[in-house]
Amino acid sequence: MKYALVIPDGMADEPQPELGGRTPLQTASVPFMDEVARCGVVGRADHVPHSMPSGSDVGTMSLFGYDPLRFHTGRAPLEAAAQGIVLEPEDWAIRCNLVTIEQGQMRSFTAGQIRSSEAAELLDRLQQALPDRFGLRAEHWRFVPGVSYRNLLLYRAGGTPAPFGPDTRTTPPHDVTDQDVGPFLPQGPGSDVLRELMKLSEELFAEAEPNRRRAAAGELPATSVWLWGQGRAPQLPPFVERFGVRGAVITAVDLLRGIGRLIGWEVIEVPGATGYLDTDYAAKGRHAVEALRDFDLVVVHVEATDEASHEGDVKAKIAAAEQIDRHIVGPLLEALRRHGEYRLMVCPDHPTFLRTKTHSHGFVPFGICGSDLSADACTSYDEAAAEASPLVFQRGHELMPFFLGTQQA
Ligand SMILES: [Zn+2]
Repeated sequence: MKYALVIPDGMADEPQPELGGRTPLQTASVPFMDEVARCGVVGRADHVPHSMPSGSDVGTMSLFGYDPLRFHTGRAPLEAAAQGIVLEPEDWAIRCNLVTIEQGQMRSFTAGQIRSSEAAELLDRLQQALPDRFGLRAEHWRFVPGVSYRNLLLYRAGGTPAPFGPDTRTTPPHDVTDQDVGPFLPQGPGSDVLRELMKLSEELFAEAEPNRRRAAAGELPATSVWLWGQGRAPQLPPFVERFGVRGAVITAVDLLRGIGRLIGWEVIEVPGATGYLDTDYAAKGRHAVEALRDFDLVVVHVEATDEASHEGDVKAKIAAAEQIDRHIVGPLLEALRRHGEYRLMVCPDHPTFLRTKTHSHGFVPFGICGSDLSADACTSYDEAAAEASPLVFQRGHELMPFFLGTQQA
C-alpha cells in the first residue's frame, strides 16, 4: 500500500462576500481534489486544540497523528530539529526574533525583514558580551543565527537544572504588533534572565554597526531580540513504530522539516520550493511522485495558500489552490492509481482567514480516496461538503490512523 498526503497550508476559509458567499476553495477550479471527493470520502477535522495558539507547528503535529496537547513542547525545539540541532533532555531552545520596538511599542516583529548577515553580526555581538554581564553563565547560552529575523537561542543545561519550566510564559512578537510590549514580556520561571538578555541586546544594538547602516539606508533598525516559543525537545515516538509506515516529507518550511525529522521521516529537499506564492509546484509534484518509489507515505506541504491569506489576497489564494491541485494532487493521483493499492488524502493543517489575515481555530475539510475505499455521497471537496458530512474528527490526531486504515472511524 502506498499513501500520499497533500497539505495546502491554511487553505480552509470562510465564505467571502466578494466571491458571492463562496469560500476560495469553493471558487477555485480543483478537478483533482473534487475527484478525490467523488471517488472517496469527505469529512472534517480539528487539528488545533482550543487551549493552544493556531499555527502550523500545532496543526501539522496533529495531522501527522500526534496529539499536540501531549507532544507539543514549543515552537523553537521544532525549528532547532529542522537545523539538525540535537537537544539534550534538559536543554531548551528559544525563538530569538530581531524586532523593532519604538516608544515601547512593537513596530516590526521582523526588524524590517533584516538581512541574515546583519542579524548574525548583531547576535555575535550579544554572544561576545555575555560573560561580563549580569552574572550570566555564558557557557549555557548560544545564539544560533538563522534566516533574517528568525533566529534561535539555545540553553545548554550541561547537567545543571534549567531555569525554565512549564509555567514560563512568553508571547509571539507577531501577536503584539503596534501594541505596548510591557505586558507581553516573559513571565514566570527564568523570565528574569530572558528579560535581562533582551535588555542587554537593546543596549548593545543601539550603536551597533548594522543598525547604523540600516538607518542610513532608511531601513528599520533591530532594536533588540525578542525571546519566545521556548521548549525542550519533544519526545515523539517514531512514526514507523506507531503506524508501520515509512514516511517522507516535502516542505519549504523549517517547522515541518523539524517535525518530520523528529518522527523519523526523510526530509526531501526540492529545488525551487520557496515556501511562498512563487514556489515551484510542478517540481514538488515530480519529486513527490518519485518519492513514492522509496517510501510508503509521501507528504507534500505547500505554504502558498497560507501566505496568500496572510496577505489578504483572495485571488492569490484561489490561484495557489488551483496550482496545488493541478501540479501536485493530479500527478500523485495518477501515479498512485498506476501503482495499484493506494490511499490519497488532502487536508490543511488549520484555517487561515483572509478576513483576519491570520491562523484560526476550527475545522478543516479533508478528502480521502483509495483503492480499497468506496465513495460516500460527497462529490466536491470544500468546507460546505465537509460540514455536511457525518465524518468528523474532533481530535484531529485521530485522522491519521483512520487514513492509514489502522483504525476504523
Ligand atoms: Zn499552517
